[in-house]
Amino acid sequence: RAEYWDVVILGAGAAGLMCAIEAARRGRRTLVLDHARAPGEKIRISGGGRCNFTNIETTPKSFLSANPRFCISALNRYTPHDFIALVRRHAIAFHEKTLGQLFCDGSARQIVDMLLRELRDAGGELRLATSVSLPDRDDGTFRLATSSGPIACAALVVATGGKSIPKMGATGFGYDVAARFGLKVTTTRPGLVPLTLDPPSLERLAPLSGIGLPARVSHGKTDFDEAVLFTHRGLSGPAILQISSYWREGEEIAVDLAPGIDVFAALKAARAENGRQAPASALTALLPRRLAQLLGDDHAPARNLADLPDKLLRPLAQAVNEWRFKPAGSEGYRTAEVTLGGVDTDELDQKAMQARRVPGLYFVGEVVDVTGWLGGYNFQWAWSSGWAAGQAV
Ligand code: FAD
Repeated sequence: RAEYWDVVILGAGAAGLMCAIEAARRGRRTLVLDHARAPGEKIRISGGGRCNFTNIETTPKSFLSANPRFCISALNRYTPHDFIALVRRHAIAFHEKTLGQLFCDGSARQIVDMLLRELRDAGGELRLATSVSLPDRDDGTFRLATSSGPIACAALVVATGGKSIPKMGATGFGYDVAARFGLKVTTTRPGLVPLTLDPPSLERLAPLSGIGLPARVSHGKTDFDEAVLFTHRGLSGPAILQISSYWREGEEIAVDLAPGIDVFAALKAARAENGRQAPASALTALLPRRLAQLLGDDHAPARNLADLPDKLLRPLAQAVNEWRFKPAGSEGYRTAEVTLGGVDTDELDQKAMQARRVPGLYFVGEVVDVTGWLGGYNFQWAWSSGWAAGQAV
């Protein structure tokens, strides 16, 4: 005989735990199942171990989705301030690092502990290291075979996340559940991921490995002013992770390596002031030395600035203000922070996150085709969508 629960939540990550807390608080008999040995593992490793748990500047503009309006309802109903209030109630100290990003002063584990305490106080049950089969539904009841025996429930919430970091137990299980019930899933791909370069470019840029600098990175009409980092595989750093979510194979990315500085004007001024300096020396006033050297060597063959007429100075300035590169690819799900795409939002009711065609079936968090920028937005989506379903189940 199957154990019966009002609500079963698959996935004890950010979205699943938040949903479970709210459902249990509303008096629903709530069970959370996870195949991992520990809950909230991505919370624990997030934000370099300090968890960037929300962003106080959250607006729908910071999310990618085939339907950019889908996230509005949940984000409005459970806001960053609601989550901050919860963090404050648990006396967890935090700070704003930059750009509205809130991090724990101590450790990300405090956020996991907070959610587990909330779940326990609300009366929800958590079962770890439990494998789960694809569910069936008959007579409005969902049935699952699990490694702890058969389970039946009235409402089933899928909170199994995306495919990023398979080493930590990420699977495409949520998409398989959607497909099982005939729901559309949009194409998924890695997001917030370092970009790689082809071998000749890597060889040329090898001396730059380890250098980081503030830059403006653009793709089409989208740009980000954050740090760029040269690595031994290609490019990383917050600005590159951000733009990676917009980039498609074969496309170019533009980088302004000295944002806010007209490098052509700066080089002309340097030439007028001291024409006998090498072009690379003039650039070191604006850029890290190794980068200045490489650009100087590549784009300014002359020994002295005075020997460079405007028409030769311009390409050098452009190499700084308008550097363009075509990534060979990305590092993929192995290191991607998120998965773009997912359960098609057309299939879901934006208020409750319930599948329109399958009453009782809900999808929350990263498994849905809503993906945030880097900076705490993805957790906010997990809290907001989990909370919204928690009110409805
Ligand atoms: P998850 O947190 O991935 O939880 C899914 C759960 O489902 C997991 O516990 C998993 O074990 C379980 N599961 C999966 N498949 C199955 C299955 N078949 N059966 C049973 N259980 C299953 N976002 C931010 O906003 N701020 C940050 O600082 C931040 N840092 C990050 C750092 C890293 C290294 C990574 C990888 C991501 C980071 N993110 C950050 C993104 C954020 O972690 C995710 O967007 C968020 O965790 C998604 O929450 P979720 O609950 O939907 O999924």
